Amino acid sequence: MTAIVELHDIWKAYDEIQALRGLDLEVHRGEIFGLVGPNGAGKTTALKIIVGLLKMDKGYVKVNGYDITEEPYEYKKHVGYVPETVALPDYLTLEEFLIYSGKIRGVSNDDIKRRIDFYLRVFDLEGKRKTLLLLLSRGMKQKVAMASALIHDPELLILDEPLVGIDPAGQHRVKELFNERIKENKTVFISTHMLDTAERMCGRVAIIHKGRNVASGDLKHLQSLSKTGENATLEEVFLKLTEEAEETFTDAVLSGSSKKASSGFFGLFRGKK
Ligand code: ATP
Repeated sequence: MTAIVELHDIWKAYDEIQALRGLDLEVHRGEIFGLVGPNGAGKTTALKIIVGLLKMDKGYVKVNGYDITEEPYEYKKHVGYVPETVALPDYLTLEEFLIYSGKIRGVSNDDIKRRIDFYLRVFDLEGKRKTLLLLLSRGMKQKVAMASALIHDPELLILDEPLVGIDPAGQHRVKELFNERIKENKTVFISTHMLDTAERMCGRVAIIHKGRNVASGDLKHLQSLSKTGENATLEEVFLKLTEEAEETFTDAVLSGSSKKASSGFFGLFRGKK
């Protein structure tokens, strides 16, 4: 199992707010991996660092074999990204935008045409091909952003809350699409609040809390770490582990052990699986 994304000891602060505190993470090639965590845990910050939208204060990130600090352009050829809130050029039609996305990614005209036809069919957007992006609904825009992120057939697709705003039929198609991609050994890396979705969709997840990796692995591994039993849902496991992490973090802060608080909730990074 090779890693396509490796984060090692990532720190990031926004002025007074310490968003990431030594985050470690490993995403394997060919899996659907989920990043889950409470509001403010640092999920979006981590994704933005990986795609190059934010600079980390400290740490090391490798994507598809590239050190992203040393080779900031090369690795992006292999990445597609859909942010939590998509912003599209309203003055283009759906088709114009996808052609434009394909061209700036260096995709051949034939492949652009083939992929546009494919994604419009998958996302049920054929009827909107010539429509201005301005006139699409929020869910439709989300689907267009996904098609745009996939136009160059990237090794790694990163999505921040990919299913929010998409209707159930659309969600089903997105999940099918992700499953098709991992069959081709491509990787899908999502951040989500929807634990039931993460449980059904992702082979492995990382639970992050206050900027650190509390635990990562498949559900079985997390059930065993949290001692919640083999029937526990990801939600039950999540609640137990984040609660423990919160208590340990608070204890460490109250006892004045700022080092412990910032560098390890009871050694909470419990290893990868
Ligand atoms: P959510 O699940 O609510 O989307 P998240 O896990 O994605 O949260 P982040 O958005 O990464 O969390 O935020 C981590 C912390 O950093 C939070 O305390 C947040 O308030 C803070 N933060 C994020 N962006 C900024 C910013 N641009 N300026 C200042 N603080 C920020």
